[in-house]
Amino acid sequence: MAQAQRFRALLDLCKRRGFLFQSAEIHGGLRGAYDYGPLGVELKKNIAQSWWRRNVYFRDNVVGIDTSIVTPHNVLKASGHVDEFTDALVDCLLTKERFRPDKAPPINFKQDKGQSSGKISIHSPDKETAKLWEQKIQNELAPGAVVTRQGKEVLLHVKEMTTTTYGKQSGSIVLETTSGSNLTIPYHGYAEPATNSPFLTDERPFNLMFKTFLDPIDPIDRVIKTTIENNTSDARTIRDQVDNVLRPSTVYLRPETAQGVFINFNQVMRTMKTKLPFGIAQMGKSFRNEIRLEHAIFRTPEFEQLELEYFTAPWESSAWFQYWQKDRLAWWLEHANNKGDIRTRNHEADEMAHYAKGCMDVEYKFPWGWGEVEGVANRGNYDLTQHMKATGENFEVLEDKPDVSSHLKETALVTSVPQEPTRFVPTVIESSCGLNRALLAFLCDAFQQVQEPGKESRTVLKLHPRFAPVKCAIMPLTGNAEFQPYVEKVARSLRRQGLYTVIEAQKLRIGKRYYRHDEIGTPFCITVDHQTLEDQTVTIRDRDTAEQHRIPITDVSSIINEKIWGDEAPELD
Ligand code: ATP
Repeated sequence: MAQAQRFRALLDLCKRRGFLFQSAEIHGGLRGAYDYGPLGVELKKNIAQSWWRRNVYFRDNVVGIDTSIVTPHNVLKASGHVDEFTDALVDCLLTKERFRPDKAPPINFKQDKGQSSGKISIHSPDKETAKLWEQKIQNELAPGAVVTRQGKEVLLHVKEMTTTTYGKQSGSIVLETTSGSNLTIPYHGYAEPATNSPFLTDERPFNLMFKTFLDPIDPIDRVIKTTIENNTSDARTIRDQVDNVLRPSTVYLRPETAQGVFINFNQVMRTMKTKLPFGIAQMGKSFRNEIRLEHAIFRTPEFEQLELEYFTAPWESSAWFQYWQKDRLAWWLEHANNKGDIRTRNHEADEMAHYAKGCMDVEYKFPWGWGEVEGVANRGNYDLTQHMKATGENFEVLEDKPDVSSHLKETALVTSVPQEPTRFVPTVIESSCGLNRALLAFLCDAFQQVQEPGKESRTVLKLHPRFAPVKCAIMPLTGNAEFQPYVEKVARSLRRQGLYTVIEAQKLRIGKRYYRHDEIGTPFCITVDHQTLEDQTVTIRDRDTAEQHRIPITDVSSIINEKIWGDEAPELD
């Protein structure tokens, strides 16, 4: 199956079996908004829980926190988000599409053989639109340019072109004109992604934060009264006046969970008596007004993050940065079937925030290509310092006898340890994993089409047992009433252990019931049959091998627990 077709089949399965629904579908839906159905919510919770277990419960020096989503202006002003949390935005003057230039492809220019001239083909959705676009180019966007049509394609005739790549010096496109003179339009290394149109606005920064107002009285009324009525100032001045009026009630939906951790640094130190190095973990929703929403839940305005801020002494920070890069990659690999579909990528210096000292992405090979699923960054002491400056709070830590953490003693990356008592603002190593992207990546990784000889092809979702929404399905072989007490006994023993267990008493053949559970990734099926009545044993069937074994009813929960958790976090130190 081609990649795009496989992805559609996966999304279809997600809808059909209750993983993922379009939000507000009965009202026409909302683009980029998704609801997680009964199985999706379990899968998401299980991934988050695995992350939490590994990063909090398995360690002595990491604690959790859960901070407010609604964030005051001052916090995000201090962190730099109000002024700098922007993406570049470009509008296409022809199609009205809006896109991010850093993610857009270079223009597709078909050069005439051995010549500098050639054609740029703009793809329109239909012939009618092609006609309208041809006129718009000739009348407004490039008056006098030679433009022709070929079906749905609108062709620009190009004399020559100087190419460039995004972020580098501008190039140009010289168009042929009916008068024979030159008509030049700028080229910045990209075209509108859907149509290949080169008629674009300049780039402008676009702040990704959702702004709202915490005010019982509609602040817009106040704005109108105090600034707009009888105002003769220019638009910029009015905008500044409006912002000033709104400022006291302006809040944002947080764009990352991290800032809530930084502003609580002293509260956590005080209440938990923590000593460096230590971490604060947080999982929760973040919001970004993304310019382009894409690939189902890959990029959405509302998403969840699993973030760990790990605070270290500056002399250990490089060693810890290396440790966390390795450890986070290990978690990804531990839970994936196809290890080759996960890789890491170090950021170039010009990709990083100016304060960051290093950044590595974990990427997954999605059906449309490699995409970031997690970032691990050395944020230096930038965030804590910014909040100190803005508030007067002191986040410095005193180390009486500066030392090196025991298991970093052999690491060459540890740098000059001070010999006397030292005060400093800790360095932060952050790992920031997108929960929804993780869910999508693990679903893609698990989705397998199985073709057995003489049978219809069917789907097996080979999710890691720790992630599988339903851990165990219990099936009476037939409707025999004598099976029921055994079914309930096994179900109770698993449910008491916190394992999501369903009783599958449908009147379907047992094989069909197994297949229905393979399709949603249930790793184990337990069947109660006539032999159970005689010797209190049941069969346990494994999703991946389809093998079945008889085991005593009393061993079911310990065997399943061992299979799910037995090899968790193998190399954690
Ligand atoms: P991208 O370059 O894809 O926009 P980013 O570098 O801005 O991502 P970070 O700020 O590093 O992302 O956020 C950490 C993680 O949060 C990302 O690795 C991703 O998994 C997740 N994430 C960020 N933005 C979104 C979004 N709009 N929808 C879903 N997940 C997101």
